[in-house]
Amino acid sequence: MSKYKSVRGMRDLLFNETQQLNFIIEKARETAKNYNYGEVITPLIESNELLSAKSGDEIRNRMFTFKDLGNRNVSLRPEFTASIARLASSLLKRNQKPIRVFSVGSVYRYDEPQRGRYREFWQSNYELIGSKKPEADAELILLTNNFLKNTGLKNYFFKIGHIGILRGILNQENTDEKIQAKVLQLMDKKEYNEAFKLVSKTSISVFKNLIGIEENNIFDRIEKIKNQLYEYKEAKNAVQNLYEILKFLTCCDCPIRTIDPVFSRGLEYYTGVIFEVQIPKFDISLGGGGRYDRLIELFGGTSNPAVGVAHGLDRIKLALQFQDIKNIDQNFKKVLVVPVTKDQEIKALELSEKLRNKGIFVEFEVMGRRIGKALQYASKKNMNYVIIVGESELKTGMVVLKDLANHEQKSVKIEDLIKKIKG
Ligand code: AMP
Repeated sequence: MSKYKSVRGMRDLLFNETQQLNFIIEKARETAKNYNYGEVITPLIESNELLSAKSGDEIRNRMFTFKDLGNRNVSLRPEFTASIARLASSLLKRNQKPIRVFSVGSVYRYDEPQRGRYREFWQSNYELIGSKKPEADAELILLTNNFLKNTGLKNYFFKIGHIGILRGILNQENTDEKIQAKVLQLMDKKEYNEAFKLVSKTSISVFKNLIGIEENNIFDRIEKIKNQLYEYKEAKNAVQNLYEILKFLTCCDCPIRTIDPVFSRGLEYYTGVIFEVQIPKFDISLGGGGRYDRLIELFGGTSNPAVGVAHGLDRIKLALQFQDIKNIDQNFKKVLVVPVTKDQEIKALELSEKLRNKGIFVEFEVMGRRIGKALQYASKKNMNYVIIVGESELKTGMVVLKDLANHEQKSVKIEDLIKKIKG
């Protein structure tokens, strides 16, 4: 046993796990292409100032922060949005609007490790910059729908809200900015009673009424939310905005489970619609996002409305496992090529290269094993075929192809091999 262990919250992903994660990354990338989001790679390390500017205490207090050798205060990125907002106010500043940007990679948060909660995890991230319109908000939700559908995940559903509802009430009640941030944080964790301690009596009664709404039909629910907002104009506008976004979503078969008027998310920078996606009986969010119209401006850009989403790829992997969905492409064939003696090694290697160039997954025997042992190895590794390259067959341009599933073996002409293996 090695005396070294991986650091708490950090994981080694072995072959299958990596393959599953890569499958999901591929689907995320396909989705980006489908919606014409250009991929960018931003640094894993950013200045702590940038990352903490508007992320909220929840994330700010859980960043991996250190001084680099040049005494700069830097952090591992806990998310992508701050980096993309930095780009939007610098390198992408003059790009034609809207700007659609995609990134995928690992992010780091000092979370308490548990199922689906790691300190290093993967996200795919999409940002649509430059539009205030509800169709832009809807695009990020539809894109998430499309992505999850393509991974094979079933029964997922969205929870949608609007930060403008709570903010609108709190603003009109003159609640201080800092207190608002705290209230939203508590509401996010559903610690309603704690949140109520920080707000006015009128706010409490409106919040309670909103929490008490039982209507399930989406548009009737929107009406009921509006009716509870009395003279809170800003909050009412938020509901109207939500209504317009929902109109786009319901036309396109998007599974919306609930509209939550007191929904809040951990990030402080949201200004409009917010959403999360989940599956039944698996009580963790698989992805979430929302509108953030003031973040880019904060980083020195001009006023630039934007909306984005981040998907938790490790959690989507867990959710697929939970639903027992096999997403690995089982169709590829794996082959072991074994020379019978040293004399056939070069020919066998040459053949391996040829097969690889035709898209067959080939392992060449590099342990010097002879046939019996090589066959045992190949079946333990669940390979499909073993190609035995022997002197007598080679003389007539043939090799022996052993099918490990049905234990059949026959001599096959080298030029027919690919057809036989690919079936
Ligand atoms: P956020 O960036 O907080 O909006 O989170 C977006 C998504 O990232 C969440 O919906 C989760 O799926 C995922 N996520 C957040 N924190 C973690 C974590 N500690 N471990 C694994 N996935 C996470």
